[in-house]
Amino acid sequence: MKELLILSGKGGTGKTTLTAAFSSLVTSRLLADCDVDAADLHIILRPERTETHDFVSGVKAMVNKDRCTACNTCAELCRYDAVIMNEYAEVDDFSCEGCGVCAHFCPEKAIDLEPNHCGYWFVSSTRHGTLIHAELKPGEENSGKLVSLVKQKARERAEKEGAKLILVDGPPGIGCPVISSFSGADLVVIVTEPTESGLHDLQRVIELSKHFKVPAKVVVNKWDLNREICAQIENFCQDSRIELAGKIPFDKAVVDSLVAGKTLFEFKDCKAAQSVANIWQQIQKNL
Ligand code: SF4
Ligand code: SF4
Repeated sequence: MKELLILSGKGGTGKTTLTAAFSSLVTSRLLADCDVDAADLHIILRPERTETHDFVSGVKAMVNKDRCTACNTCAELCRYDAVIMNEYAEVDDFSCEGCGVCAHFCPEKAIDLEPNHCGYWFVSSTRHGTLIHAELKPGEENSGKLVSLVKQKARERAEKEGAKLILVDGPPGIGCPVISSFSGADLVVIVTEPTESGLHDLQRVIELSKHFKVPAKVVVNKWDLNREICAQIENFCQDSRIELAGKIPFDKAVVDSLVAGKTLFEFKDCKAAQSVANIWQQIQKNL
């Protein structure tokens, strides 16, 4: 079983469009949406949820108000200013880091550390295979752990189904969730656009791929919107010995296919779809 990770330095570069398009070109595959803060693969694939599971990570302090004597000890000790004192102590869930200091020193043993429910992960069926995806509650910061969980569940499921390829729609940026998404990947496809910031983001993601020793290929989306910067990206790839898998021209059909909830290949035979088909041929050589 192989794992193909699709990344971009920031959101909105066409990463999800490409992942969805690839999913309609392979038969033995499973999909994992690791953009747990703002998943959008479902817009194209319209999944039907078959399983919902809780995602629990770490603990949060909870005050038993019947036991609290408002002595203020916890408020004085909490270095995250998470305790609000009124008639009794209350904990602000967004600020509490679950360090446990308050529970340890509360003279009335009025504080318990409860498991922190941070979100959900799901198994869904789509017309292009099973999708493992997730949702992090607003304000939660455990996206790296949730990405690891989504990938672990995707591997388990792929093994069960006998899928030969896991297509991973990665998180944007270069933060903790992206770092988690590299684990176990056989190849990373980095999608970029011909802008100054696109080139900069690409350089940062390539550094990560080198650090984690995952082979990388680059795709330039809407390449013809700025041929000069596209040429700079191509030069950069050549100098860095990173293969350019291909370039996708600007094509209004891409947006129209998104609005229609279809992959590029389901929508119509357009310029962008032809380029993506050629790119897939390049990528397959390394899988
Ligand atoms: S330390 Fe315990 S008793 Fe004192 S305010 Fe906090 S919760 Fe209440
Ligand atoms: S668990 Fe730590 S962070 Fe949370 S309220 Fe208690 S002392 Fe503050």
